[in-house]
Amino acid sequence: MKIADVRATTVTVPLEAPLRHANGAHWGRFVRTIVEVETDDGIVGLGEMGGGGESAERAFAALKRYLVGHDPFRVEELRFKLCNPTASLYNNRVQLLAAVEFACLDIVGKALGRPVCDLLGGRLRDEVEFASYLFFRHPNPTTGAGEVRTVDQLVAHALELKERHGFSTHKLKGGVFPPEYELRCYRALAEELPDDRLRYDPNAALPLEDAIRFGRAIEDLDNDYLEDPTYGLHGMRQVRAAVRVPLATNTVVVNFEQLATNVRDPAVDVVLLDTTFWGGIRACVKAAGVCETFQLGVAVHSSGELGIQLATMLHLGAVLPNLTYAADAHYHHLADDVITGGKMPYAAGRILVPDGPGLGVTLDRDKLEHYAELYHRLGDYPYDRDPVRPDWFALVPNQSWADPDKVTDVAQIPGLRELRRSVEGAAW
Ligand SMILES: [Mg+2]
Repeated sequence: MKIADVRATTVTVPLEAPLRHANGAHWGRFVRTIVEVETDDGIVGLGEMGGGGESAERAFAALKRYLVGHDPFRVEELRFKLCNPTASLYNNRVQLLAAVEFACLDIVGKALGRPVCDLLGGRLRDEVEFASYLFFRHPNPTTGAGEVRTVDQLVAHALELKERHGFSTHKLKGGVFPPEYELRCYRALAEELPDDRLRYDPNAALPLEDAIRFGRAIEDLDNDYLEDPTYGLHGMRQVRAAVRVPLATNTVVVNFEQLATNVRDPAVDVVLLDTTFWGGIRACVKAAGVCETFQLGVAVHSSGELGIQLATMLHLGAVLPNLTYAADAHYHHLADDVITGGKMPYAAGRILVPDGPGLGVTLDRDKLEHYAELYHRLGDYPYDRDPVRPDWFALVPNQSWADPDKVTDVAQIPGLRELRRSVEGAAW
C-alpha cells in the first residue's frame, strides 16, 4: 500500500462565543485544516491541524512530494522523513507530522478493521473523562448571552456546563484579568462546586511573584494542579519549590529533550500530552511511558479540536495506564462539527472512545463544504490578539490585564454576523 494523494481543506467552525485567553482570543470560531491522505487502493485517512487562526493548506501541499509513494504502515519512518531534528531546523514540521500520523494510523486501522487504540497497545477504558474548560468569554452579539466576565457569570457558566455535560472537574483559563481578580473567580468556583476538582491555567502569563502568591492562596482547595502559572522551566521550578500544589505544563515540556531535563531537575509534576504539539499520538504514548517510569503525572491536553482531533485524544486517553486526571477539550464550546452525526456527546462528563475502524470518525461532506465556504468568506484571524484591545499584545510576563468592569463592545469583533448566519438553530 502506498500514499497516492494528500488533500487539505481549511474550515472555520463557530464557537458559542469568543473565548479569551492570556494572549488574545479565539474570535468566535476555530480555523482548522482538515487533511485527507488517500492510498493507491482507495483508503482515505483523516488528519486535522490548527489552533492559531490560520490555514495550513499550503504547508500540506508542500508535503505531498515527501508523502506520495510512502507506505502508510511505516509511521515511524515519517518522523525522520519529515522531522529529522537537524534537517528540519528551517522548516519545523512537528505539527504537520502529527496530522499526517493521525491520517496514517486511520488508514492502518481501516485496512486492518481495528480502531486506532488497538494499534497502540489496546484500550484500558471505553470512555475518557473530561474537565469543563471555563473561559472568560465575550458575549454572543445576538442575544448578549454567553458572556463570562463577572464572578457570577463564571459560576453560572460552570454550573450550567456541569448540568448539561456532567463535568466534575473544572479548568479555569485565566491570564486575562488581574491575578487577584482571577483568584476571586477561582475561589468562587471552589465554593459553589464543593465536591468537584479544579485547575487553573493562566498560560504562563503571571510574573513569578504573582504565580507564587496565587499558588499559596489556593493550597487549601481541591486542586488537580496549577498549570503554567509562570513562564520557563526555571520559573516553574521556583514556583514548585514555594507552593504545595502540583504543577502541570503544556508549554515548557513539549518534547523529549525538555522531558529529559524535567526528569533530571524537576520543574513540573504533570506533563500535558497534546497529540499535535508532540507530533502525533504515538509520541504522546512514548512520553507517557517515560512519565510512568519516573512517576510524573500525565493528562490529555487540548489545543483546540474538531471531531478528528478529538478522536486522537480519545484513542490516546484510552491506552494510557497512568492517566489519572480528566482530559481537557475546547469541544463543548463549539457550535458544530464536520464529522458525520454531529458533535460527539458527553455523558457524565465522559465521551466514548470510538470503536469503528481507524480513528472511528467520518467526514460529513456537506458540513466540510459549508465551513470551508465560511472560511473563504472570513479568512484567518490573529489568535494572539484580542479584537476588543486591538493595540495590546502580551509581554512575558504580562503587565497589562483586561479590565473586568469593562463591558465588551461586540461591534469590535469582525465576522460575527457571518458566523450567526452560518449556524442554523445553534447558540448563535
Ligand atoms: Mg495550558
